[in-house]
Amino acid sequence: MRRLPTVLVVEDESAIAELISVNLRHSGFRPIWAMDSATAQTELDSALPDVVLLDWMLPGESGLTLAKRWRAHPRTKAVPIIMLTARGDEVDRVAGLDAGADDYIAKPFSTKELLARIRALLRRRAPEEEVKVVTLGRLSLDAATHRVSFQDQPLKLGPTEFKLLHYLMTHAERVHSRSQLLDQVWGDHVFIEERTVDVHVKRLREALGEQAAAMIETVRGAGYRLTVAGLTATVSADVG
Ligand code: CA
Repeated sequence: MRRLPTVLVVEDESAIAELISVNLRHSGFRPIWAMDSATAQTELDSALPDVVLLDWMLPGESGLTLAKRWRAHPRTKAVPIIMLTARGDEVDRVAGLDAGADDYIAKPFSTKELLARIRALLRRRAPEEEVKVVTLGRLSLDAATHRVSFQDQPLKLGPTEFKLLHYLMTHAERVHSRSQLLDQVWGDHVFIEERTVDVHVKRLREALGEQAAAMIETVRGAGYRLTVAGLTATVSADVG
């Protein structure tokens, strides 16, 4: 199943938070509500959301203070922030944007507009897919169409195996530890056991078939590497 984008709603007024959350859910987002700055910080520490809706006036630290702190921190500096506030003056808008907010919406706002701004922000922040088709040896992966083929024969891969293969192919000939793969393929702060990586590598090898699977090497004590050398060795062995 596709992971729903999470939106951290930092808002002390429960009626507004509820209204926003309902609309987010209807639009395919997963809202998380934090009613004060301390809760917001805890949520952010446990997992990075895709977007933060940040109310300006909060009990405890203000939204402005939070935005400034998050921008100053390497882990949170890139998190997309939309400031949400009753303050609509130009001076406040500028202060909000200066503090590092990506966008600004004044209350009362239309939920339609809010959702449109979230989507626009996510589009702007989406990593550019630099390379769409990756080919290594006779193994080819198309990130745009989610197709994988070996010797022009299409292969069936599960979504995680696809992501794993995509990462390995775009970072070939290097050894990746299990924890690096968890970070890169499974994402930030996902608490999964490293053994999970082995399970998906096994599935990936099965899906690739014997010849292509030889490209994925297990490097004892270190992790996994995708290498074209493995493929060549297998082919010459077959031929010989
Ligand atoms: Ca408030």
